Amino acid sequence: MADYLFGPVMSSRLGRSLGIDLLGERTCSFDCLYCESGPTLKKTMTRQKYAHAGAILAELKQWLHDNPDDHPDHITLGGEGEPCLNLELGKIIQGIKRIEPDIPLAVLTNSSLLHDHQVRKELQHADVVLPSLDTLVQKEFIRLNRPFPGLNIQDMARGLEAFCNEFSGRVLLEILLIPGVNDSRANMEKIAAFLKNLGHERVDLTVMSRPGAHMHLKTPNRETLHRWQRALHSAPETAGKGIQPCSTDRAADPSIILDSIRRRPQTLEQLCSALGSAPEETSAMLDHLVREQKVRALGHRKEKFYTLKEF
Ligand code: SF4
Repeated sequence: MADYLFGPVMSSRLGRSLGIDLLGERTCSFDCLYCESGPTLKKTMTRQKYAHAGAILAELKQWLHDNPDDHPDHITLGGEGEPCLNLELGKIIQGIKRIEPDIPLAVLTNSSLLHDHQVRKELQHADVVLPSLDTLVQKEFIRLNRPFPGLNIQDMARGLEAFCNEFSGRVLLEILLIPGVNDSRANMEKIAAFLKNLGHERVDLTVMSRPGAHMHLKTPNRETLHRWQRALHSAPETAGKGIQPCSTDRAADPSIILDSIRRRPQTLEQLCSALGSAPEETSAMLDHLVREQKVRALGHRKEKFYTLKEF
């Protein structure tokens, strides 16, 4: 099994994406109610070499060598925590661009470290950055994102603003809406005002489309979503787009399936589409892994997701 690479996975915002985890274990500055990796094990704001650049780049070289005809839409730094916590972020980004300059490099971030000039500088060589900012109301921020003590949402917003001013690549902002938690009028108005001068390319309103740390969370109704889309001039909901039909008759390697669903719960369709594997064979493989109790099958919004986690 790979230590850092996973997937490719299907992403509604990035297409078919080869994931790279820079933390190794669930290490994050937040512990979001909706986290699809499950509860954060280590909540921190301390930057460290959680995973070494050399080991990550060696895994990527090996993957490219083993999959010469595979060309994912993006290589994405994300996974089970906040990638900007890795002290070697800049080295990793530049190393990936040297090894594979033709595949756009994306970075997912919860925005908590963008106040740090050094982090903003290290991100400059990425092609796409996808920061999240679910609320500008401090009380909602504490309740939804459960941040490291002392983190203030206004400081984070200032960091995001500074980043957008300095970064020449694409910035795709994400706001995940949970009814009764961050869908307040106060939040909508604050975010709409904030976005007016942000300089981002696009804002995506998303909903919980997979099982998360807290399964009881609801998704907003259509009327709420449309109200927010109008207020923020956001793109229509993208969940579910990008699923490709599959035309192979091979099942995916079980270790690749396990690596992939460890970071993100996925349906059979999403797995087959991302890994290019056959539905029947992959379904049989998943059933086998469920019987061996290596994988759990969970129902969520009328779909069956496969995961390693206890949610
Ligand atoms: S959703 Fe992202 S920011 Fe929130 S706890 Fe999970 S990894 Fe951290």
